[in-house]
Amino acid sequence: MQESCDAGSMKEAVSRVRENILAACKRAGRNPEEITLIAVSKTMPVTAVREAMACGLSEFGENRPQELRDKQAEITEPLRWHMIGALQTNKLKYVVGKTVLIHSVDSLHLAEAIEEESKKRGVVSNILLEINIAGETSKHGIVPEELEGLVRKTALLPHLKLRGLMTVAPYTTVPEENRPYFRKMKQLVVDINSKNIDNVYMDNLSMGMTGDYEIAVEEGATLVRVGTGIFGHRVYPSKE
Ligand SMILES: *Cc1c(COP(=O)(O)O)cnc(C)c1O
Repeated sequence: MQESCDAGSMKEAVSRVRENILAACKRAGRNPEEITLIAVSKTMPVTAVREAMACGLSEFGENRPQELRDKQAEITEPLRWHMIGALQTNKLKYVVGKTVLIHSVDSLHLAEAIEEESKKRGVVSNILLEINIAGETSKHGIVPEELEGLVRKTALLPHLKLRGLMTVAPYTTVPEENRPYFRKMKQLVVDINSKNIDNVYMDNLSMGMTGDYEIAVEEGATLVRVGTGIFGHRVYPSKE
């Protein structure tokens, strides 16, 4: 079935997000072409993804490998899928070779497993390293002190291409509070690039969600991951 984008609410939501990104670029003197909007479609049905496609979106983020697999089985158009969620090594077969970027690499163990799976499939996988920038115990990601060591080790894996860093900033109703964290993320990328490590030039920063993407763009995000702001609120199946 052909979904349309004239249903109103999603069309408006997408234009609002795009306009906000443009305005943030203007404030920060950035080129809007540097920023990719990823529509986070986790928990959303295929019909919602199709509606978003009709609204001009082509980059989608999922956080569960099986859900990604199921959506890809139904939507065969050439979309750009991003893996943004915690990954277990036994689920990599649903992700490697099926996504344009894996945002959530937070250990050497995981990097090595992606290397193995990529080698097996004859592909090179683009990855980001996930940073727990505020040191929250509830969050995935390495702490900044671990970054250089992990970069040096992943840079040696021939089927991985390290493309940058990702973070999930603290939940807040005051987006401005996350500015210092986004700024720190940008600084981490600059610091790593200045070390001229072989095979390492990081040009991507995945940061900013519905609550704070405008601040993230002002501070240097190249990939923003917006779910609620496009699809509306998620309804999770209740646990037994
Ligand atoms: C769910 C999720 C998002 C999107 O969150 P919203 O607040 O709905 O925009 C972004 N990034 C990650 C890693 C997520 O899991």
